[in-house]
Amino acid sequence: MENSSIAANVKRILESLPPGVILVAAAKERTPEEVEEALQAGVTHVGHNYVQEAERMIPAIKGRVQWHMIGHLQKNKVKKAVRLFDMIETVDSWPLAELIDRRCAEIGKTMPVLVEVNIGREASKTGVLPEEVDDLVRRISTLLHIRVQGLMTMGPRFGDPEDARPYFRATKAAFDRLAKANIPNVEMRYLSMGMSNSYQVAIEEGANMVRLGTLLFGERHS
Ligand SMILES: *Cc1c(COP(=O)(O)O)cnc(C)c1O
Repeated sequence: MENSSIAANVKRILESLPPGVILVAAAKERTPEEVEEALQAGVTHVGHNYVQEAERMIPAIKGRVQWHMIGHLQKNKVKKAVRLFDMIETVDSWPLAELIDRRCAEIGKTMPVLVEVNIGREASKTGVLPEEVDDLVRRISTLLHIRVQGLMTMGPRFGDPEDARPYFRATKAAFDRLAKANIPNVEMRYLSMGMSNSYQVAIEEGANMVRLGTLLFGERHS
């Protein structure tokens, strides 16, 4: 892992993912050159945690990429975010959804979003509480310029990814419940969960979008 190139890491991971699972390369703290190498090797989706980082990187990248916002989105960054991103994975409140809707209306765009669930009910984490997710999805479904396409969760971090399994399973249950509810304007298509140490367990529990940083690019050094 230490010695393998980004390109080799990407190819190995892409080959190992079951069909239909989308790899989102988590680009925080990486250079445009590193991300470019991942794209050359087959990455099609890149996730950013910060609007400012995305603002610098997006113009520097030549290929066609789907840009995902995967970090907490501050309200004062929404106006920029709706121009930069193809999907916002971290919608976790009605005021944020309403603001995204308003800013998208101004530029004639409809933003695909995932609703972020704080499935572990951790005080330190963003995301809507599990018992509030259905209500939030229903409310967002009334907005014209934002479209719910699934759920995202970070899940609690454990040394042993098996410990994360019940949280992934609970998120999948919420996803299935919402899919069955057939809410107009809501399409339960993507379930984004799992990071470098937990993505295999997440996929076993139904994730079809995984967000990997360390496994592709190596350890972060900050
Ligand atoms: C950093 C990050 C990841 C990837 O984490 P790794 O452990 O490096 O794979 C995934 N999702 C989010 C929201 C992140 O901030």
